Amino acid sequence: MTFNSMLDSIQTYEAGKPIDLVVREFGIAENEVVKLASNENPLGASPKAIEAIITNACNAHLYPDDSMFALKEALGKHYGVQSNEIIIGSGSDQIIEFCIHAKANPKSKILMARTTFAMYEVYAKAVGAQVVRTPSHEHNLQEFLSAYQTHKPDIVFLCVPNNPLGECLESKEVFELLKQIDSNCLVVIDGAYQEFAKAKDSNKAICPKNLTEMFPNAIYLGTFSKAYGLGGMRVGYGIAKQEIIQSLLKLRPPFNITTLSLAAALEALKDQKHIEKSIQNNLTQMPLFERFATEKGFKYTPSYTNFITYYFESPLDSTQIADYLLQKGMIIRNLSSYGLNAIRITLGTEEQNKKFFMLFQQYLENRN
Ligand SMILES: *Cc1c(COP(=O)(O)O)cnc(C)c1O
Repeated sequence: MTFNSMLDSIQTYEAGKPIDLVVREFGIAENEVVKLASNENPLGASPKAIEAIITNACNAHLYPDDSMFALKEALGKHYGVQSNEIIIGSGSDQIIEFCIHAKANPKSKILMARTTFAMYEVYAKAVGAQVVRTPSHEHNLQEFLSAYQTHKPDIVFLCVPNNPLGECLESKEVFELLKQIDSNCLVVIDGAYQEFAKAKDSNKAICPKNLTEMFPNAIYLGTFSKAYGLGGMRVGYGIAKQEIIQSLLKLRPPFNITTLSLAAALEALKDQKHIEKSIQNNLTQMPLFERFATEKGFKYTPSYTNFITYYFESPLDSTQIADYLLQKGMIIRNLSSYGLNAIRITLGTEEQNKKFFMLFQQYLENRN
């Protein structure tokens, strides 16, 4: 059978390995496996969100509220925007897909950083659009400005902070770039890790209300998968002026969020104490990862997220390191597929992180 030729250039997205796989392949007990690979919240979801999932289970036979009234109201209050300036997706991943389908075609160019969230490229290629990347791995304002002038893309993706590297443009840099961009170019500000970034440095905070009021061609994306600890429930959102939201809504399949997911997200949003606790754990643990890297002589990118990226120099090899850790029951992310000799580690609980340092130390001692 032949398929659309666009598919030939797409590489299937490689998600973080699930715990089950390590249990099956290496015979490690499930409770011994530590997953620090997908930037999930090591403290789990808010207990109130979990309770909401359980209490709503008896409504499983009913279709969810397709208007998503309650969650949009709550998000609107949280960010100071109108409900009709919000779209909810099955993860913010789905909003990325809507943005590309709404705006791009085979003649389009889509601009992004050299090393950034892999799904931008997957969806771009699915519509046959051309992906243009800035030269540096990390986001660089000057490079974006000049690539924008040269290519005049239809969409610009800024991942602020950036996954998988952890760096973060300052909000004034984002605004400076937006000032140079034509009002017919859609600028996607992916704020999947904004909760962590703004807690660490207020210069990195992007306010969706200010952003979209100043730049009606911008959309801000947020997710419940990272700081909010609801990756398994698949809820993300986009905030933009109505013109954009109404176009994206045309592409939304009905009932794209389950009843349980809506209820969980709503309660998670209300429980800001849990978010503060999660961010605090992250802020406390990050310096331990920085110190470990410095002691061992690895480079790392100062991170504004809940993960850190370590870079290695030969003979150290990220694939060998990731494989070693995996068979010890420690799942982290190898970045070799990005052309980097690097790994990305999600910050876990104190105990999980200690295990990571211990196993890594063991690897360094046993090498050869
Ligand atoms: C995790 C992530 C998302 C989307 O996650 P969902 O689970 O689909 O909401 C989007 N962008 C970046 C940069 C991410 O890391």
